[in-house]
Amino acid sequence: MAKKVPLRMCCVCREQKVKKDLIRIVKNKDGKIFVDESGKADGRGTYICRTGGCAGEAEKRRAIERALKSAVDAELFASIKELVAQQ
Ligand SMILES: [Zn+2]
Repeated sequence: MAKKVPLRMCCVCREQKVKKDLIRIVKNKDGKIFVDESGKADGRGTYICRTGGCAGEAEKRRAIERALKSAVDAELFASIKELVAQQ
């Protein structure tokens, strides 16, 4: 039987993808927002595609702000873009 792979949705393009194709962004209980590379951090998470234009779009369209209902600083976008650029 094939193992069922859990899918997560990119908050920009709304496509469902496997976690390894996405970058997880988490807001923890202290309200700190950060890129969760382990994928295991506690808190409310949202996802962005690792490839393509979603990282840039997220900044323009404030998709992360809307998903997490919080302000996001430029530093977070810088670390997201770093991850995207590594691909
Ligand atoms: Zn996407």
